Amino acid sequence: MDLLVVGSGLFGLTIAERAAEAGRKVTIIDRRHHLGGNAYSEAEPTTGIEVHRYGAHLFHTSNETVWEYVNRFTKFTNYQHRVYSTHKGIVYPLPINLGTINQFFDAAYTPAEARALIAEQAGEFDAHSATNLEERGIGLIGRPLFEAFIRDYTAKQWQTDARELPASIISRLPVRYTYDNRYFNDTYEGLPVDGYTAWLERMADHKNIEVKLSTDFFDESQPLHKKAVVGQVPIVYTGPVDRYFDYEAGALSWRTIDLEEEVLDIQDFQGTSVMNYPDADAPYTRIHEFKHFHPERKEIFAQEKTVIHREFSRFATRDDEPYYPVNTPTDREGVLAYRELGAGEKDVHFGGRLGTYQYLDMHMAIGSALSMWNNQLA
Ligand code: FAD
Ligand code: UDP
Repeated sequence: MDLLVVGSGLFGLTIAERAAEAGRKVTIIDRRHHLGGNAYSEAEPTTGIEVHRYGAHLFHTSNETVWEYVNRFTKFTNYQHRVYSTHKGIVYPLPINLGTINQFFDAAYTPAEARALIAEQAGEFDAHSATNLEERGIGLIGRPLFEAFIRDYTAKQWQTDARELPASIISRLPVRYTYDNRYFNDTYEGLPVDGYTAWLERMADHKNIEVKLSTDFFDESQPLHKKAVVGQVPIVYTGPVDRYFDYEAGALSWRTIDLEEEVLDIQDFQGTSVMNYPDADAPYTRIHEFKHFHPERKEIFAQEKTVIHREFSRFATRDDEPYYPVNTPTDREGVLAYRELGAGEKDVHFGGRLGTYQYLDMHMAIGSALSMWNNQLA
């Protein structure tokens, strides 16, 4: 073995695939019973509808290198993501756009009039210099829209004061003074035509790659555990960075989600793939209806059955899957301490969402893995 990769998510798979192509013998271990990390999906058995097991995953990128790379393993559909939001019993389009603004204020503003109104309502804070989510949010869209669509949704999703959260979280969402309600601004977007798992498995399908599932890096009863291999072979570690160091610099805060699945005997539940619930009285943040991700799968789409997930958000305990780095100021200090500890680990490279404690989308995880391979490992 020339390289051990801990974690078979998109970061680990990209490193493994590149190394295998370069002639290295790679072993990937994952503690789960399947590969692919959080992007894994499978068919719900009674309906055949593809369900994203760890939360809905939408692929989008403007990075030409990443787009060219992922197309080696899968073709993409022309799906374009759109999200709606039910506030006080009325459905609005997201992200905040001219349609949302006119519906919310019961008006017919032109783009210039809407800009002027929002500028007036947003005057409390300067969005550019805002340092936390609340100030950036109000600075971008004004207090009334912030309170309707962002404040309570964010409170449900992060259970952290919006003044403690980084401004960058909200900068993920565009604000538009047109009726364009595409969720993402990226050049390329789509879903893998034959599903995420087929894509992820193709990345690992190489004679130089061996995959060992249900294998935990910290389980001392198996041969490839941390104490046995660090210093013996180069390692790329994509699990939680605080767990690697046994929480020596404190536990970082992570958020996890619970997905409540229901199979319904109706053709269509909500008419769209994702409906957000920004009000405090709905216990969930959003409902996903998976058949809408693949309208081109005509027979599956047309059947009188549908699968939905209600998504609930909460802090992760050590026994949960950590999904989202919360990134409070205290966490950011912890990350710096772990970065220093990481630099002292001989031939161990920390990558991916969990290994670097960063809110990486799939294209970012792939892009940073390609950079790590090219710049450090190759
Ligand atoms: P992961 O996919 O988390 O893979 C890490 C792997 O390491 C896991 O398989 C885990 O089992 C394994 N592991 C951890 N500890 C150990 C251990 N001790 N021993 C062995 N194995 C271990 N991105 C988008 O682009 N679009 C989206 O719409 C989108 N939606 C998302 C929704 C949710 C709910 C979540 C959580 C993420 C979403 N993402 C989305 C992000 C996407 O999942 C990540 O960018 C991508 O999965 C990153 O891959 P990764 O390899 O860093 O991490
Ligand atoms: N957000 C919100 N209301 C919404 C959608 C998003 O307040 O209806 C905020 C929330 O803080 C969220 C952030 O915008 O964490 C980013 O949203 P996105 O949909 O990108 O989050 P993800 O898909 O990663 O959960």
